[in-house]
Amino acid sequence: MAGKPNLRVSLLLPALLRICALGVVAVLLGVFFDTTVGLVFAVLALAVLLAFHLVYLSLLADWLERPAIETVPEGVGAWSEVFSRLYRAHRSSQLSERRLAENEERFRRTISALPEGIVLVDAALQIEWCNPVAERHLGLSLRNDGGLRLTNLVRDPAFVAFMTSGSFEQPLVFRPLNSPALALSVTVIEFEPARSIVLTYDVTQTERVDAMRRDFVANVSHELRTPLTVVNGFLEMLLDAPDAAGDPVRRHHLQLMHEQASRMHRLVEDLLMLSRLESQESAVVEEDVDMAALVRELTDEARALSGGRHSLGYEADETHVRGSRDELRSALGNLVSNAIRYTPAGGSIQLRWTVDQRGGAFSVEDTGIGIAPEHLPRLTERFYRVDKSRSRETGGTGLGLAIVKHVLLRHQARLTIESQAGQGSTFTAWLPDSRLIQPEITRAA
Ligand code: ADP
Repeated sequence: MAGKPNLRVSLLLPALLRICALGVVAVLLGVFFDTTVGLVFAVLALAVLLAFHLVYLSLLADWLERPAIETVPEGVGAWSEVFSRLYRAHRSSQLSERRLAENEERFRRTISALPEGIVLVDAALQIEWCNPVAERHLGLSLRNDGGLRLTNLVRDPAFVAFMTSGSFEQPLVFRPLNSPALALSVTVIEFEPARSIVLTYDVTQTERVDAMRRDFVANVSHELRTPLTVVNGFLEMLLDAPDAAGDPVRRHHLQLMHEQASRMHRLVEDLLMLSRLESQESAVVEEDVDMAALVRELTDEARALSGGRHSLGYEADETHVRGSRDELRSALGNLVSNAIRYTPAGGSIQLRWTVDQRGGAFSVEDTGIGIAPEHLPRLTERFYRVDKSRSRETGGTGLGLAIVKHVLLRHQARLTIESQAGQGSTFTAWLPDSRLIQPEITRAA
């Protein structure tokens, strides 16, 4: 490279010149004195040269045994250049190492200062590193537990099941056995094929506020249930009374009151159901649910609800699933009743329960009013309605799909919605393979 002296040239040239000079002197001695004198001189000079290089080679070997910047030997001639290059290379690698170590230390200090717990694990869930927050959250000690399996140290069944499930789309919220006052949300990020980051967040406060809200809604709903039942009962009595038919205005008012009271009753029931589903305490009842029978039941119910205004069909694989019959019935029933309520007369509705190696899928396809794409992501939020007045007119509470979402979540299932405004919709509940009891597929009806 231009400008920079070529190392090979600067090392070899003086040595070659020295050998040439010795050769010339030896020849001159041979010419002026005797050939033997010339030869003896050449041999002796070469031996001295060899000894010189051997001494420096041994110095280099000693240094390479225990390389340290302070002990780089000093040299003469070509060796001076060699040692000075060694000194510079060693120094620059030391500087890079120090810079790297500083960066790593700064990175660790930054991560340690984060309010989240961070645990670095390998494919076998063995702890590689964790920050002090994770030590506090999960009762770990990096010094003693490094290299041990995380699930052997944090043995809560929910945590172990989550960590070994391999599916981390939804975070896990749990209370560790070692500190039950703490509520932790756990997320796993797989960042290399064989490595993952386990993040823990303290959600105690959020959980407490959430529980207060849930309790409040549940208590209010519970308190409203009895008075509403009484009001409803009396309104029914008044509507059935013989004199109610006499005054059409009064009858109309009574009917309106009855409709609204029934709507409130449904709302209260839905709110109670949601609070029950949301509270983690009530685990899913694991029953054997005959899905084909359930689909037939839902179709009968849909026929009654439709009153002949729609054409209805169903198909169902003869497969049973493990889960809560009541919860599944309520969730899938909500999808069916929505299809009836949002499909104008003359439309058609198809119920399907199909099974393949991935799991089971319950779908309700309608040719109704459909939903514009911007509403789809928010449909399962409580009280989210595309058209408030239509929902109310058809007796909706705005909680149906929120209930569906919670029931499915409790069954490790998920909901997908395909729809186009004016073209109809397909709501599908996907149940995982682990929930199927009978894998044989027998097509019915
Ligand atoms: P609602 O009691 O209002 O029906 P849901 O939670 O069951 O409450 O549904 C939320 C909203 O989703 C509804 O208000 C409606 O706008 C829309 N929706 C649900 N199902 C359908 C469907 N099959 N076709 C069209 N829109 C639907």
